[in-house]
Amino acid sequence: MGCERWTPVEAVLHPLGVVFLLLTGVFPLPAQPPPAPSAPSRADILRGEYGLYRANNDLLFYHLDIRVDPEKKFISGKNTIRFRMLKDGTRIQLDLHAALAIEKILLGDTALQYERELGAVFVDFPETLITGRVYTIDFYYSGNPVETGRFGGIAFRKDPSGHPWINTACEGIGASLWWPNKDQWRDEVESMQISVSIPDGLVDVSNGKFMGKTGLGDGYTRWDWLVQYPINNYDVSLNIGNYEHFADRLGDLTLDFYALPEDLDKAKKQFVQARGMIEAFQHYFGEYPFQKDGYKLIEAPYSGMEHQSAVTYGNHFANGYLERDWTGVGISPRFDFIIIHESAHEWFGNSITAADVSDMWIHEGWATYLESLYVEYMWGHDDALKYLNGYKSKVRNTQPIVTQRGVNRTPPQDQYFKGALFLNTLRSVVNDDARWWALLHDFYQHFKYQNIMTEDVVEYFNQKTGMSLTPIFDEYLRHPALPVLELKFDEAGGAVSYRWKADEPAFAMPVRVGTKDHWEMVRPTAEWKTMKTPLKKDEFEVAADLYYVNVSKM
Ligand SMILES: [Zn+2]
Repeated sequence: MGCERWTPVEAVLHPLGVVFLLLTGVFPLPAQPPPAPSAPSRADILRGEYGLYRANNDLLFYHLDIRVDPEKKFISGKNTIRFRMLKDGTRIQLDLHAALAIEKILLGDTALQYERELGAVFVDFPETLITGRVYTIDFYYSGNPVETGRFGGIAFRKDPSGHPWINTACEGIGASLWWPNKDQWRDEVESMQISVSIPDGLVDVSNGKFMGKTGLGDGYTRWDWLVQYPINNYDVSLNIGNYEHFADRLGDLTLDFYALPEDLDKAKKQFVQARGMIEAFQHYFGEYPFQKDGYKLIEAPYSGMEHQSAVTYGNHFANGYLERDWTGVGISPRFDFIIIHESAHEWFGNSITAADVSDMWIHEGWATYLESLYVEYMWGHDDALKYLNGYKSKVRNTQPIVTQRGVNRTPPQDQYFKGALFLNTLRSVVNDDARWWALLHDFYQHFKYQNIMTEDVVEYFNQKTGMSLTPIFDEYLRHPALPVLELKFDEAGGAVSYRWKADEPAFAMPVRVGTKDHWEMVRPTAEWKTMKTPLKKDEFEVAADLYYVNVSKM
């Protein structure tokens, strides 16, 4: 989820006695539209912009090799960074939070100069790096990372029995909060090695395939993990604790589960839902994206996060979301929201990733829509529609879903709920379920392991459907308000006039009207059209479960 970005929050008491901020499903709409976003700060631009010193290189590989001291809340080590130059240059931009010290940055044996500005680190090379060539540098660092944000970013805690419990969840603040990397969304390494040295007796679960552990002879053990796919920085995670492990398989896919000893029985019951979840999403989209790395589900002290192949879980081992009926219509209590939503991100967010945080609905709108696909797979279309339309109460329609590019700023929460309701609307526009399922499957397969923008999504859907869907995408994603279907009744004459009132002049979405037993498709535009109808104003309906629109009757 990366729920860090949800704004409506309430303080609730976590079982550990720690006050966590969690979102509430019910919150009042603001009386006034929120003010226009403030101008981006220098820090937001340094983090968000894909400038020259990022664009001149292409990441290939990281080896993050660190030692974590739970008592001192201290990290030290290095990230080995391999990249290919795309343009001749003597400088690249990396990122590391200002609270952490740079020990040295080496190219072979040569110490490199660097300049720090807020969270950015500009690394200078004594000789020009040549286009097409591959370079490897070692970035040594250390320090006490700052705990920040709802999930702590990186949090050094204790479990209820007093063992260290250290977890990361840093999507909003950025992975450079705790390790040096090229901290943006457009460019991902193709693979990564993660080595974490921790006190003997503790377990580290990170991303990828477990390669083994090695006693270091000084009271520490190194845990080695290998990520065999592209991975975005914020997905890279530490889960250090007194974990117990249990395992299952789904065909060739390994399923590995980690929970604290006191929660093991509850975890064994609740985590069986991972199987049905994977079967459902494989049905719609194809093979689990990280087959070689395996699927892992790991208990954490916050609600949950989509860490690639190592999903973290803190949903109280209960169905719904934090023991609530999440969309309020009786469907959510049938399944564990966090297992379904966070794992849906393996397909949308982790495999397909937005190239800029401005287009994050590609993660959250899709993952939220995938919840309803899971419901449809398990319990049928009617329940899926009911579940999805329950989300309407959470939509605000006050800011566009797609935000300014090149600025590190999380888009509004409408990217989740309105994003999902928009995709359901798009299914009704395609109006052919066999075609819709093929489109979803092929769209995922076409873009898997890539970083894309909204334009790529629109172009794909336009091309594959042969329809002009651009105004529909733009209306829902680039404007705050919903389109309004205006209806003007002439009951005496047995007619109704209709037109769209929308922000996109070319918005001409077909929509079903009439009665539930006898929908009729009309194709409104911005101009009035008239149709005959025996229905009175009170009887005439719009298929609002299938199309997310407002209706105005005159
Ligand atoms: Zn999410």
